[in-house]
Amino acid sequence: MTPYDDIAAPAKPSLEAAPLIDGFGRTVSYLRLSVTDRCDLRCVYCMAEHMTFLPKVEVLTLEELDRIASAFVALGTRKLRLTGGEPLVRKGMMDLVRGLSRHLATGALDELTLTTNGTRLTEFAGDLAAAGVRRINVSLDTLRPDRFRTLTRGGDLAKVLAGVRAAQDAGLAVKINTVALKDDNAAELPDLIAWAHGQGCDITLIETMPMGEVEADRTDQYLSLKDVRRELESFWTLEDLPLNTGGPARYVRVAETGGRLGLITPLSHNFCEACNRVRLTCTGTLHTCLGQEDATDLRAVLRAGATDAELVEVIRGGVAVKPKGHDFEIARKAPAVARHMSTTGG
Ligand code: SAM
Ligand code: SF4
Repeated sequence: MTPYDDIAAPAKPSLEAAPLIDGFGRTVSYLRLSVTDRCDLRCVYCMAEHMTFLPKVEVLTLEELDRIASAFVALGTRKLRLTGGEPLVRKGMMDLVRGLSRHLATGALDELTLTTNGTRLTEFAGDLAAAGVRRINVSLDTLRPDRFRTLTRGGDLAKVLAGVRAAQDAGLAVKINTVALKDDNAAELPDLIAWAHGQGCDITLIETMPMGEVEADRTDQYLSLKDVRRELESFWTLEDLPLNTGGPARYVRVAETGGRLGLITPLSHNFCEACNRVRLTCTGTLHTCLGQEDATDLRAVLRAGATDAELVEVIRGGVAVKPKGHDFEIARKAPAVARHMSTTGG
């Protein structure tokens, strides 16, 4: 008897473990799992300078993270992204990754991946590749050491660049994620794109999202990617690609570099109808929409001693009420959603 016997074998969702479908008929097949709210950086758009992190008891244990993730896999989740906070600062992170990789081995999961700031990749890239991770996202907003130090409040760019190299040397495909910031990196975006493509990396630009209270005024940081695209098109040829990952990214190929560029515009409503993803915070709260306050407390269910069948029912209930779309509004001063991205996971 395994812990998951009563929610059916995770290999292929059977009739008993029907896929997770929300009230609008969208199948949920992608889980983003935040494994910690902690981080070794303090990016200005993500965290306050003096963050109060959660008491340990509030954060899911590695066993709880595995149990919830595995329940999702049993319900048809095909892609699992580990994030944070910074996932690679979580103690025992590699045990979690190795444990979850059993679902890759059975074929239940197509992809196990993570989003990282890259500072600890020199240490972990080889282990990640050995555990079956094939692709990772590395967040990087500038190639200038002084600007990196300012944007991350103290980070060392050299570590991240060494991390990207280590990941590639280990055979991992690296996608760079860059938040477009009007004052801080707008003029540098073409250099960043050319650099990423020169390294053989895809790169995705992200608009700032109004998440959590940070000191900077977000309306000052917001840079529309429509404007960025227009600027890039003044000297590059951008060819639309018919790639849809069920998320808010639209992709183009830059003819001159041959590389792929993603543009994430979370403030537009153009992706919600195809949304296939849900998020679990490091405290075990299920959010089915990044831009809405809907929440299901799975930690309470686990800690009350629920069986796997009971856990599955609560997950189904949470997914059933997934909102039709988000409700971001950058012009409002208060954050649209009070929780920080570092708790929810990007
Ligand atoms: N620490 C890891 C990292 O930085 O990649 C994983 C967690 S981080 C919260 C995930 C992603 O969210 C990063 O790419 C980061 O740039 C992005 N992010 C954080 N706050 C954001 C905000 N307010 N708007 C847009 N993206 C944000
Ligand atoms: Fe840390 Fe990532 Fe947030 Fe930066 S964006 S503070 S690296 S969690």
